[in-house]
Amino acid sequence: MPKLFALTCGWLTGPTGGFLAGEKGRLRVPVPSFLIDHPRGKVLFDSGLHPQTQTDPQGRLGGLANIFDVHFSPGEEIAGRLARLEIDASRVDYLINSHLHFDHTGGNALLPNATLVVQRREWEAGLDADLAAANGYQEHDYRTGQDVKLIDGEHALFGDGTIVCVPTYGHTPGHQSLRVQLDSGPVVLTADACYLRRTLEDLHLPSVVYDEAGMLRSLQLLRALRDRGARIFYGHDPEFWAGVPQAPALVP
Ligand SMILES: [Zn+2]
Repeated sequence: MPKLFALTCGWLTGPTGGFLAGEKGRLRVPVPSFLIDHPRGKVLFDSGLHPQTQTDPQGRLGGLANIFDVHFSPGEEIAGRLARLEIDASRVDYLINSHLHFDHTGGNALLPNATLVVQRREWEAGLDADLAAANGYQEHDYRTGQDVKLIDGEHALFGDGTIVCVPTYGHTPGHQSLRVQLDSGPVVLTADACYLRRTLEDLHLPSVVYDEAGMLRSLQLLRALRDRGARIFYGHDPEFWAGVPQAPALVP
């Protein structure tokens, strides 16, 4: 069975309503990435923020820097997190992106030899100027020169069912989550298909969603996976994240 490591690649503070529509205030959330060590290769699920956001968030993020405060220090970028696991970022074989937003693809450039695995409809949205603008994508995050493997719907990375991309469209046109089979049972890394525990429990959507009906269908799918015994790892939940052992500890 693969081994799973949780890595925090910075934190963001943004409007709470951006995570839970209608709520007031601001919320500080983790930016998670995951390393999955499989006998056939090292697999990363999302790559966190770009290192430039440590010193110059405005220069990297533009207007997004007016919405989000970035809390991110040298060594917390994905290459630094991997180094603490004694993994050279250039040795990551596969980089699975849940979707193309800046807090999930910002570190892609640090993984030059990984094959990027992304849903075809997400990638095509990223190459379409109108859809990219509408979804807040920034090409410099994901057009970083690696080989790209485009997939359509559910996809078992090594064909053995231990690492499976699960389409959870809605947050963005081609968002995907990742199911990982551990010794302890299945885990689902939802990414932004489900920001918080409350998103799933109350079906409380964020204020900005590409396709609300699609996102609700994806949340029902995540509930069904949970009800069949999968542990759900929410995409940006600070309370949940506080209970997740961080690398170099294994996720049990
Ligand atoms: Zn996100």
